[in-house]
Amino acid sequence: MNLVILGPQGCGKGTQAKLLVEKYNLRHVDVGAALRNVSKSDTPLGQKVNEIINVKKELVPDAVITEVLESELANVSEASGVIIDGAPRRAGQIDEIEGALKKFGRKLDKVIFVNIPEKESVIRISKRYNCSQCGRQLILGKDVNNPYDPCHDCGGPTEQRPDDTPEGVRKRLQIFREETMPVLEYYRSKKMLIEVDGLQKPEQVLAGIVAQL
Ligand code: AMP
Repeated sequence: MNLVILGPQGCGKGTQAKLLVEKYNLRHVDVGAALRNVSKSDTPLGQKVNEIINVKKELVPDAVITEVLESELANVSEASGVIIDGAPRRAGQIDEIEGALKKFGRKLDKVIFVNIPEKESVIRISKRYNCSQCGRQLILGKDVNNPYDPCHDCGGPTEQRPDDTPEGVRKRLQIFREETMPVLEYYRSKKMLIEVDGLQKPEQVLAGIVAQL
């Protein structure tokens, strides 16, 4: 089974992707995380991706997405399905991504849309921090009491993603509305879309997805 999962910032798609990975023995292809790794490399591509993601807070060119996706897919065993987290995010990527899957003998089965209102996105992202040492996600008020608390798991320092500023979230939500919503409508018209309410508890969101799969 080959899936795509999309949704506005903070909708919980990463959490759902991990739960689906366990349930269906899938491989999690996290496009945003792969791009953040590329952005840390001291190469022309790394610098370009860093500028787009962290400074301009825009989408990277489609050709970069295809390249990242193909290099991730090359490492997945034939026996596992995949869940692509975060792409396609604009219409131009639809064929690119289906083409990349086809290259590895795969076909896209369903597209999951975890939906939350924009207001909720802004609230959730303002509380989203990470441990800069072990990478664990830390929610303010739940996992840490203030942004200067160390990580509970490893004691590492807490940080916020450079694109998770209020201005960054507003810009990314606008991109989601204008560029990604038409992609979701395309998949809806193809009867490939599974839409779930991301305001529910994670286990309820998962149950909603599983019921529709
Ligand atoms: P995410 O971790 O999914 O929030 O992605 C972080 C950032 O990576 C986004 O704000 C974009 O700049 C970039 N990005 C992730 N996925 C894509 C995509 N499919 N197309 C273009 N840019 C992307």
